[in-house]
Amino acid sequence: MSYGDYSVTPWEAKGKIDYDKLVEEFGVEKISEPLLEQIRKITGDLHPLLRRRFFFAHRDLGLVLEDYLSGRGFFLYTGRAPSKAPMHIAHIVPFIMTRWLQEKFNVNVYIEIPDEEKFLAKKVESLEEVEPYVKQDILNIAALGFDENKTFIFRDSEYIGRMYKPAVLVARHINFSTARAVFGFDGETSIGLIFYPALQIVPTLFEKKRPLIPCGIDQDPYFRLQRDIAPRLNRFKTSEILAKLAWGLTGPESKMSASEPETAIMLNDSPEAVKRKIMNAFTGGRATVEEQRKLGGAPEVCTVFHWYTLLFEEDDKKLEERYWACKTGKLLCGECKAELVKRINNFLSLHSKRVADAERKVSKFMYDGKLASEMWNWEFKT
Ligand code: SF4
Repeated sequence: MSYGDYSVTPWEAKGKIDYDKLVEEFGVEKISEPLLEQIRKITGDLHPLLRRRFFFAHRDLGLVLEDYLSGRGFFLYTGRAPSKAPMHIAHIVPFIMTRWLQEKFNVNVYIEIPDEEKFLAKKVESLEEVEPYVKQDILNIAALGFDENKTFIFRDSEYIGRMYKPAVLVARHINFSTARAVFGFDGETSIGLIFYPALQIVPTLFEKKRPLIPCGIDQDPYFRLQRDIAPRLNRFKTSEILAKLAWGLTGPESKMSASEPETAIMLNDSPEAVKRKIMNAFTGGRATVEEQRKLGGAPEVCTVFHWYTLLFEEDDKKLEERYWACKTGKLLCGECKAELVKRINNFLSLHSKRVADAERKVSKFMYDGKLASEMWNWEFKT
């Protein structure tokens, strides 16, 4: 939906997002310090994405923690819609959060691969176009270290036999006027996309426990609908922890987009491509070395600093030191970017080894691991 200077839907975000306003518009809550403390008490630490407030808002996170402490437990659900290009580093941020939560809380994770979504949203011209990326995406996700026996990765086109009946029940409870108001559907929207939210809601019904969804705030509309109808299907309302949208390399208002390669670091980029992209990235640096030395830079608007904050500097003290070295002109952009290039290339090199290893494990995640085997016999019962 459009909110004046910017618009946010599950398929597109444009303009400079005012997150304070968005929290109000969406009716979600910011993650408070006491909630973070509660998580820290249970898990022993806090992931940088939480303590740096990149995951900044939520629905019912307090109830999730109550369920955990009472022994009822909860489960995690997230997903990735394959497109006509490989995944980039912004795509893996919610998965990194999900994996951390699985490790700390020892819970099941369901990962939906909606291989029809981009086609229905008219982002690709044929279903075949996404096919080469489906397997690649699954391997990229499997490589992030999920528990093979507590994780089920499934693609809609393959698992639809189990999903269809509950999707029909979900769809029956959602009126078109509600869906239109939530998603901004119009006369040009395919009827497939209008039904599609029902499929995205089905995994929230997999267990009679509270689902927790780590995702970008742009995905919240789906789960607002779920929360309307869940009690009628004798299931818990979905809870969420919601992230801001990661910046692209061309500025704080840009998003990483596979269709604009210079905005994004793709997971299969060569070391040379990473270097070229980071060296050309938008920074908060000054026009000349002299000015930078004298006036300092502006890490708050720097895409390089943003990516240090998100994934490439875990140590808070070192991050702060980098911030002040920039602010006071002690650090120059060339040096700062070269270090990020090195860190990203190390990460991608390690990731590609893990992807090769994931080839061996993928059938456990999808078909014959403990949870996957159970899910192929799953039937929805209220
Ligand atoms: Fe950004 Fe680093 Fe340059 Fe500061 S020194 S503006 S953090 S690239």
